[in-house]
Amino acid sequence: MFGRYTTKTIGIYPTLSTTVVSLVEYLHALFRSRTKVARTTDYLLCSNCFQDQGLRLDAMRIGIAEDSACPTCGEKNGRKLSRDLIFNLAHRFFVWGTLRREKYGAAPVIQFNDRQSTSIDTAPWFEPDLHLFEQVIGVGFFYYGPRLWMIGEVEPLKALQDATTKTPIIDRIITEYPVVAITTQQIFYRLRKDPANPTNFGEYDSPPIAIAGTNRLDSKKLSVMYGSQDLHVCVHECRVTAEDDVFLATLAPTRDLKLLDLTKLLQEPDTNEFESLDMAVLMLFLAGNHSYEISRGIALAARDAGYDGLIYPSYFSLLHTGNIPFETTYGISHRRFPSQSEREMAKIIPNLALFGRPIEQGHVEVKCINKLILNRVEYGIHFGPVGC
Ligand SMILES: [Zn+2]
Repeated sequence: MFGRYTTKTIGIYPTLSTTVVSLVEYLHALFRSRTKVARTTDYLLCSNCFQDQGLRLDAMRIGIAEDSACPTCGEKNGRKLSRDLIFNLAHRFFVWGTLRREKYGAAPVIQFNDRQSTSIDTAPWFEPDLHLFEQVIGVGFFYYGPRLWMIGEVEPLKALQDATTKTPIIDRIITEYPVVAITTQQIFYRLRKDPANPTNFGEYDSPPIAIAGTNRLDSKKLSVMYGSQDLHVCVHECRVTAEDDVFLATLAPTRDLKLLDLTKLLQEPDTNEFESLDMAVLMLFLAGNHSYEISRGIALAARDAGYDGLIYPSYFSLLHTGNIPFETTYGISHRRFPSQSEREMAKIIPNLALFGRPIEQGHVEVKCINKLILNRVEYGIHFGPVGC
């Protein structure tokens, strides 16, 4: 758990008395300023300046290939880092690299800014690198006390976890999220590992109700067919390995299907993160199997409200798009900034869940079936410190 977190450091913005409105304007300006391009003369460090191997590799990934001599170490073949890139590197390594997931949500253990001096413990081999950051961009690193919404203190989410308070929140989810249709012109995929008879269309339908109740949305009261329009997410979701015999069905609706879209970013201009339904739903679907009972309740309510299914955020969204979950600036969620909406939406990969047994019921048809072979697996990696 967050043993180091205390309530004394409530975020890194120094003047929290500043109104939220002016903070929002300030952050808009900050996002705009990040689009500036560095000039050669702006380079301050290079990847060879660092001792820690993880930091060197992260610096090589984001640095600029350019053959001038580094102003700090003098070497020419390191990837060059401008002031902005050094900030990015510090954020990637210290903030993203110490992110801890909680039951719901996640928050970094370390943050940095130009107003605090360094107060974290470090591994001995790491001290010269830390001093380099301190000297070159004038920042200090410290243990971060997150705003508590980041680790699941979100009122609608808390209400969903209590059987006596969940119903009004589920009702809000059903009414406040948008309705979308998938049409007969749209295809989607469904993967099966080791089916008894791969050419039998029934193999690609939802499991019978007798064996339902093991995944995020299905229960003893509701069979669910899971699918995706993103093939790679299908592979992730099915936990496929190279040893499995895997088959892919290409499917299409036989009529327009009415779906509740839980991947949309709800605009909530008068609400903060602590009261946000948008944040509650996102955290719910990015949480592990301890959250399934809640999401199954939402599926049942959507079925009872006449929906054919749900579109919901894939648990693997962030792994697939390579993004930091629940990204914040000065403790404020990027989902609250209209200028960041598109970028935030792009982090989420939609999954399809169709209620009942849509192939047997004739709501979905099998267009074709292929064998699927995994021939390459690639991991995106980044690094963080140890001993902090
Ligand atoms: Zn250098």
